[in-house]
Amino acid sequence: MRYLIVSDIHGNKEALDAVLFHAAGLYDRIVCCGDLVGYGPDPNAVVDWARANLHAVIRGNHDKGCAGLEDLEWFNPLARAVCEWTARQLTAANLEYLRELPAGPLDVDGFQLVHGSPLDEDEYVVSLADARNIFPYMEADLVFFGHTHIQCAWARRDGRFETIRRLRPGDPDLYLNVVQDGAYLVNPGSVGQPRDGDPRAAYALFDTRTKELIQRRCRYDSSRTRRRILEFGLPEPLASRLETGR
Ligand code: ZN
Repeated sequence: MRYLIVSDIHGNKEALDAVLFHAAGLYDRIVCCGDLVGYGPDPNAVVDWARANLHAVIRGNHDKGCAGLEDLEWFNPLARAVCEWTARQLTAANLEYLRELPAGPLDVDGFQLVHGSPLDEDEYVVSLADARNIFPYMEADLVFFGHTHIQCAWARRDGRFETIRRLRPGDPDLYLNVVQDGAYLVNPGSVGQPRDGDPRAAYALFDTRTKELIQRRCRYDSSRTRRRILEFGLPEPLASRLETGR
């Protein structure tokens, strides 16, 4: 089975459409590591798509915040303003869908999905040191996570921990062959708001038969998304960061 793995779409329909077009024909099922909404101007369009198309999905902290499951006191002022706006936009059915999303870890076909980490759905895993602490608690040899909006991967092979080389702006796809006897912690990156200095939408592909994992980026035109963020009166940095990927 060939999987398309996405995360942190954050209401960015243009980036999502670009990913689906870019990956067309290369997957059988789509799974998501959370944060369907928050930040972007099209929360309903993204949740409508998720309800119709996702094989498996877990909740992210923004999904919880917008659905009223999290005290927004914990959010920074910018995220909080967008969460309140998003909650007002969402249809009753879409709010209900977000409220019912399961927390990770979620088992899917031999791998797992988590939002932050297997231990804490709100934890930020950003370094090899963070990853080393998590490997002993992984319940599957392949775990996909999101939350940091940074496309990356770490491996434990023959008892050694290693950082997999990251894609740089302009780099083509990164192919990783996931071997049977290693363990991998993989962030497919953010579809809708990358923060690793590469404004291209990020995603991953995984084939359970060949064990091949591919980290990919695709360019998209964010001008409509940025214009709509401003038209709705959402904070300006949410628009400008889409240009820089920061
Ligand atoms: Zn996020």
